[in-house]
Amino acid sequence: MKRIGLILSALALVAAVSFAGGQGERGGLDIGIAMPETHVERWQQDGAALLAGAQELGYSAEVAYGDADQGRQNQQIQDFITKGARLLIVGNINEGVNAVVREAAYEDIIVIAYDRLITGSDAYDYYITFDNFKVGQFQGQAIVDKLDLDAVGADNPKHITLFAGSPTDNNANFFFDGAMSILRPHIERGALNVVGPAPLRSSDGAFTRIATENWRAEVAKSRMENLLSNDARDVTLDAVLAPNDTLARAIIEALAADAKYDTTEKLPVVTGQDAELASVQSIRDGRQYMTVFKDTRLLAEGAIKLADALLSDRSPSIPGARLDTETYDTGMKVVRSYLLEPINVTRENYREVLIDSGYYSESALR
Ligand code: BGC
Repeated sequence: MKRIGLILSALALVAAVSFAGGQGERGGLDIGIAMPETHVERWQQDGAALLAGAQELGYSAEVAYGDADQGRQNQQIQDFITKGARLLIVGNINEGVNAVVREAAYEDIIVIAYDRLITGSDAYDYYITFDNFKVGQFQGQAIVDKLDLDAVGADNPKHITLFAGSPTDNNANFFFDGAMSILRPHIERGALNVVGPAPLRSSDGAFTRIATENWRAEVAKSRMENLLSNDARDVTLDAVLAPNDTLARAIIEALAADAKYDTTEKLPVVTGQDAELASVQSIRDGRQYMTVFKDTRLLAEGAIKLADALLSDRSPSIPGARLDTETYDTGMKVVRSYLLEPINVTRENYREVLIDSGYYSESALR
């Protein structure tokens, strides 16, 4: 009798702890948020929005930034695990994250891959991101439109040079392949000439030669400087495929220091992504040509909705997201992926998309 009483009160205690756990009241950590870096502006917004979103729902949460160093991020995730996290939201740096993701799985901690797929792992089930292929398609299409490539023949080709994101970031492949799906036909028919290494797909060997380690601006800048004094010395570039805003601005800086491109009018078409403030100003001023807006507020909100559903055993519903159960293959399994829509931004629509939506204030853009 005594034993049954003990078991019953133990069960009641477990129930009470797991119930309170959903509300962040058990003292431990509910949600650990691991963001990859701070040198690309967006991640600070992602981190802040995720933290606020989790706390609003009553979860205790913490955010940590990995400084593009997977060892450091693993340590941060390890700390979350030690603090009893029930769910992790991870924007990883490279596959080295797998060890801690596996450990989390052993501990029955739910892992959501955030924005970047965690490749080489079968230890998690959910991924939320934007339609990354479409981001690249917008970049490619912007170049085609601005250069009016459909009207260009092989007798008088336009010149482009290609940059890609970090070779360890799965998104970089999607951005590049999306862009090349649009540019490739023009390259193949000779209307677009690639200056420098010319991979046509991210799976081509030459991809590593155009990739930018850890998305570092200084790496892209010095590669552009190098191109200007070598492969691109005797041509005038009409376009540069740049995968994001941080790299686009670094590339423009290198270009602007060259006499061939030293005024706004002479700059080639340079693409971007993220709608970083400095790039939106640059677009307004006619320097960077375009960017792709991925509303981090919506991504963070979606991730928190997903987390909340998973923590309370409900089936997730993420407004505005498309469920894709086929595309994102870690190499070990296809992960359930929720895809949000990116938005193409040029000088024509930046006010409407970024200011009218309240993402930036009018005064921020002065
Ligand atoms: C993100 C981009 C970002 C890049 C560099 C990618 O995984 O999707 O938005 O510009 O990482 O941080």
